[in-house]
Amino acid sequence: MKCVICKRGKTRNGKTTVTLERGETTIVVKQVPAQICQNCGEEYVAERTTTKLLKLADKAARGGVQVDVREYLAA
Ligand SMILES: [Zn+2]
Repeated sequence: MKCVICKRGKTRNGKTTVTLERGETTIVVKQVPAQICQNCGEEYVAERTTTKLLKLADKAARGGVQVDVREYLAA
């Protein structure tokens, strides 16, 4: 797809690290699949993936986790 930020670059499949915060909880998820712009580096994470990450953060927050670093596991 074409990058909507710089409007010049094209994105390609890559992996990124996403940091989520929920109150006292910080979750860092590595190896998250994303489309990355080859020109400006903007990262696009699919909505489906974002939803999954948010659920993960909510669960960790409920469990009282303060900081957690994990790898994204594709379902
Ligand atoms: Zn771009």
